[in-house]
Amino acid sequence: MKQAIVYHEDYNKYDLGIDHPLIGDKPKNTIAILKEKNMLSEFSLFTPKKATEADLLRVHDASYVEHVKQLSQTGGWLSEDTPAPKGIFEVASLAAGGSMFAGEKLFEGYNCTVNPLGGFHHASKGHSSGFCFFNDIAITIEYLRDKHHLKRFMIIDLDVHHGNGTQDIYIDDRTVLNLSFHQDGRTLYPGTGRVETIGRDDAAGYTVNLPFPPGTGGMSYLKAFKEIVPPITRQFQPEIILYQSGVDSHHADPLADLNLTYQTYYHLARQITELSQETCKKLLVLLGGGYNSTACIKSYYNIICGVLGKQDYLEEADIPDTDPEGVKNIVSQLKRFLGDYWNL
Ligand SMILES: [Zn+2]
Repeated sequence: MKQAIVYHEDYNKYDLGIDHPLIGDKPKNTIAILKEKNMLSEFSLFTPKKATEADLLRVHDASYVEHVKQLSQTGGWLSEDTPAPKGIFEVASLAAGGSMFAGEKLFEGYNCTVNPLGGFHHASKGHSSGFCFFNDIAITIEYLRDKHHLKRFMIIDLDVHHGNGTQDIYIDDRTVLNLSFHQDGRTLYPGTGRVETIGRDDAAGYTVNLPFPPGTGGMSYLKAFKEIVPPITRQFQPEIILYQSGVDSHHADPLADLNLTYQTYYHLARQITELSQETCKKLLVLLGGGYNSTACIKSYYNIICGVLGKQDYLEEADIPDTDPEGVKNIVSQLKRFLGDYWNL
């Protein structure tokens, strides 16, 4: 397997302020831990460029792109939870450019590429919130669709928040299988991602939502993953897998209430890498959300260990589920809703 990572110093300017949960220097710290553990040398390192306006416009409305540009000049607020600091247009375009660049490398002989500033899944075509400006996942998909004429994209979004922006964009597109595991929207932002939302019209079955009850631990989560993700991936046969590997599902994360542990991330990344090797050999890893500055860097490290199949990943005590029956129940419901489309 051949792997690459993209990084730009300016990534660390994606900083929404001192009092904001999003931590600006995460990309720098991610690179630092890989260096410290002697793993950076296993990756080719590339410096990405900003996505152009034409790239953004493959997904976003012109009026929305203009709105972000205006805010970026004056400073302001994109939404109640998302301040728009001066210069954010350039930095958000760079983040999207990084995902595009990493995606393109998968067509130049690399099997797995990583963007440490990616996975902005709350951005819709014409509006956004949740610390996101441009949906780099969709921007990458539309760029690759144009350039390489792909017909089967798979998104595996394991960030603790539902990827509502990505879902809005692809709810009626059967060329994009959009799978999201997240904390139940009745208990967490953005409130969407119900199990019965499975896609519209002829795209029914191509949106997959698994909402977990608060308190779900790594064991139940992994079991649910194994029951749902490998069979769907094998049946869909994606031409590329985009893995939004948010780690805000960790028990120490201040924004959410799932109880995943470091080793959960290793096992998830390992299995997704194996699935990509078995199908398309093209895996784009977008290191999504994570708001505990220590835990999130360690969790990202374990994801990279999983990608590389390294055994020296970090471990901690497992946290028992508070509602194992609730998890079993929701997995059975999902299987029922998807029964006409996938053999599960
Ligand atoms: Zn998140």
